[in-house]
Amino acid sequence: MIYFDNAATTKMDGEILEAMMNSMKNNWGNPSSEHSAGEKAKKLLEKSRNDILSSLGLPSWKLIATSGATESNNLALFGFLAHHKKGYFITVKTEHKSILEPAEYLSENGFDATFLNVDSNGQIDIDEFRSAIRDDTVLLSFSFVNNETGIIQKNWREIVKIAHENGIAVHTDAVQAIGHAEVEWEQFDLITITAHKIGGPKGIGCLLLRPSVSLSPIIFGGGQENAIRGGTENVSGLYAFSLAVKKIVSDMRLAEIQQMKDFLKREIKQIVPDAVFNGAGCSIPHILSVTIPDFDSENLISELDFKGVCVSGGSACLNNENAFSHVIYSMTGSEKSARETMRISLCKENTLAECEEFARIFSAVICDFKKLRSA
Ligand code: PLP
Repeated sequence: MIYFDNAATTKMDGEILEAMMNSMKNNWGNPSSEHSAGEKAKKLLEKSRNDILSSLGLPSWKLIATSGATESNNLALFGFLAHHKKGYFITVKTEHKSILEPAEYLSENGFDATFLNVDSNGQIDIDEFRSAIRDDTVLLSFSFVNNETGIIQKNWREIVKIAHENGIAVHTDAVQAIGHAEVEWEQFDLITITAHKIGGPKGIGCLLLRPSVSLSPIIFGGGQENAIRGGTENVSGLYAFSLAVKKIVSDMRLAEIQQMKDFLKREIKQIVPDAVFNGAGCSIPHILSVTIPDFDSENLISELDFKGVCVSGGSACLNNENAFSHVIYSMTGSEKSARETMRISLCKENTLAECEEFARIFSAVICDFKKLRSA
């Protein structure tokens, strides 16, 4: 099987899996228990927390462990706004649904919000952002790298600077950025990351907070995670996450991944000359978003899957049959393009040989569809 859907999830790293299983055998105590089994688990939990923060160069920051990025994004919005009790926030139309849906809920329940547009390259317009700012703006949330297109906000530095000059805290969903882009983490105020996109397990993520940032809890009971997120901690999950962060930030291999992406682009363009690469020039190496005109991505993806290749139609969270990519739609205004877009996402374990095999299979699939149409 050729697995090119690493933005949906990655296979767990073998060494990390083994270390995690050992920690489940040896550190099974409840970190809140006041006996030696509990203390042992607590020690590993706190070491994992500190290791994640120091791997990212944020030793003085706070880390709230969660069940993943969906929860971290919900916590960032609900927790931050509830702490401020009232206020207005700004986000972007191309965000992941775990930002857009809570943002929509909040905007219908007492908190005003603006959802910024993007241009055809997925970029926020700085002037639109400036004019969206009001005196009561408390929060801006935008993803550093878009999960469907791999597009990076090229003007992120200016966006953050304008926000800070206006006293606005900045949250970034960095799920697709960690390990795949150089990030100046300390420029943000709240950061979402998750383990299963970088070789770690599913069900563990975190929200990183600048020391001056305060949140209200969204899960009550137990007082864990600084009384922000109650519930017995996922000790071995956080431990595995800390190993995954350490491993990926020290060995990103961006040039190798870019080489594979460039190869795939050349091959796809030869097979389908009118293929459109979304966000070309501003997307990071591991995600390739391509629109294949007149080919419904659902059909292409299932045929590729049948032939042993896993890719996706955008986000893995688009599990509704009638759904199409809101990201491509926001960039192009075309529902047709949004239905014809495929996401190929790589990781450093992929190889050029797999890319060659992909090209061979992709070419055969396109050929078969064309034959069917002309029959
Ligand atoms: N944010 C982005 C940008 C993502 O790509 C994802 C996963 O698809 C999420 C949030 C949700 O992550 P999780 O599966 O950890 O809840």
